[in-house]
Amino acid sequence: MARILFNHLFKRYGKNTDPVVKDFDVEVADKEFLVFVGPSGCGKSTVLRMIAGLEDISEGEIYIGDELVNDLPPKDRDIAMVFQNYALYPNMSVYENIAFGLRLRKMSKHEIDLKVKKAARILEIEPFLERKPKQLSGGQRQRVALGRAIVRDPQVFLMDEPLSNLDAKLRVQMRTEIISLHKQLGVTTIYVTHDQTEAMTMGDRIVVMKDGVIQQVDTPEKIYNTP
Ligand code: ADP
Ligand code: ADP
Repeated sequence: MARILFNHLFKRYGKNTDPVVKDFDVEVADKEFLVFVGPSGCGKSTVLRMIAGLEDISEGEIYIGDELVNDLPPKDRDIAMVFQNYALYPNMSVYENIAFGLRLRKMSKHEIDLKVKKAARILEIEPFLERKPKQLSGGQRQRVALGRAIVRDPQVFLMDEPLSNLDAKLRVQMRTEIISLHKQLGVTTIYVTHDQTEAMTMGDRIVVMKDGVIQQVDTPEKIYNTP
């Protein structure tokens, strides 16, 4: 059960500065696909980084499941992130890139192998497992980044503009793939984008942000007045 609760969250970068996130107060349901949308600089990534523990919380609370995570180190949060720039290791094969996070755990080679291959099958990158990232297209690289996230079996996915480096056609295709991945895995997901179409076509619900403040939280139909 991984609902996420934001309780009157504030973020200031530095003492006596204006908060860049103000009174952020939302509950994300278990298995929901929630999109944060808003212009560049409105605070989306800051909230995401606070969930991951990469940024301190100035005021308020974040709960994952029933656990208050404010002071929990990132490594103890059961979260996987996917970024815009893939962040793949250039000198490792696709297989090693996906396996890397599991190698540090007490997990047998055989178990790791099963997990990597299962992730590769789901993402349809099995033929590329021995290649290096630079031998892949942008879409294939983004699938590897997704593979590295899903292989961790996290409670929560955080995705920060994962498609913005892709060309328009691939972006549309990957939207559908991410949604179908979410349906398959049922992991609570927060997806950050500045692209309204992406928000509208992907979100179960959308959080519209501006200048660090939530403007609206609702379904795409209600927000964009579509049937
Ligand atoms: P978004 O993800 O919506 O583009 P961000 O969360 O990255 O927005 O940024 C929100 C605000 O916080 C912006 O005004 C940005 O300049 C500022 N900001 C982000 N990171 C830092 C930082 N490390 N130090 C100071 N200010 C920052
Ligand atoms: P481990 O599998 O032991 O967590 P990793 O080397 O994969 O080892 O990661 C070290 C730490 O870095 C993790 O505990 C986690 O906090 C963070 N981390 C690594 N990969 C990701 C990811 N895709 N998303 C979020 N955090 C990650």
